[in-house]
Amino acid sequence: MIKGPGFEIRVCRSSACPMAAMEIEPVIPLLKEVLEEARLEEFFASIAPQARKKFRFRVAVAACPNACTQVQIADFGLVGQMVPTLAGDCVSCGVCEEVCEEGAVTVNDRWPLFDAERCLNCGLCIRACPKQVLVPEARGYRVLVGGKLGRHPQLAREIRSLADEATVVELLRKVLSFYKTFCRRGERLGTVIQREGWEKFCSFLREPAQDVPSN
Ligand code: SF4
Ligand code: SF4
Ligand code: SF4
Repeated sequence: MIKGPGFEIRVCRSSACPMAAMEIEPVIPLLKEVLEEARLEEFFASIAPQARKKFRFRVAVAACPNACTQVQIADFGLVGQMVPTLAGDCVSCGVCEEVCEEGAVTVNDRWPLFDAERCLNCGLCIRACPKQVLVPEARGYRVLVGGKLGRHPQLAREIRSLADEATVVELLRKVLSFYKTFCRRGERLGTVIQREGWEKFCSFLREPAQDVPSN
């Protein structure tokens, strides 16, 4: 775990894990830079100077949908994705259908058919194909926000799929800007979104990028 003033970033052991769908190392310093710019520790001290609890904005990054870093309960979470596609002659061996835990592949007598609704973009079928004719058509991050435990637990919700690093940075800036504008006592982002409304939050994200408010 990486700790900084007013924030933490949980990072999965992606480089040592064969399940990784993304190389997450490059995005970590970018996240850290945006979080440091937001001066969250000063922000928490300014809105809740008497607080005994140490507030932290919680970020989690996982390189695949197994989400070992509990991305679903983070304020801002990233999940690596890898979209499979056929790029060669399939021999209809059925291995990809067998390994898919989501029932998202059906192999006919010529090729595999993917069900995009069910597919988690984990890349398991790509790695398993004995003919290596399945390849990643795209890679990127699923971006989730507002997860938390505590008195009123809630799972994080998706705001973007297959995001590249620049998009992730832009989204984190906007999410922090929303958080610092509407957070009153150091409550978690999920609580703030719940109070202000999901629609308001989403329209805030659609606005042109702006600086994170200074304290
Ligand atoms: S989230 Fe995926 S890539 Fe990261 S440690 Fe867990 S299984 Fe491995
Ligand atoms: S990427 Fe994962 S979920 Fe999607 S079809 Fe392949 S194994 Fe199934
Ligand atoms: S594992 Fe590869 S060769 Fe076998 S059915 Fe799937 S795509 Fe075709």
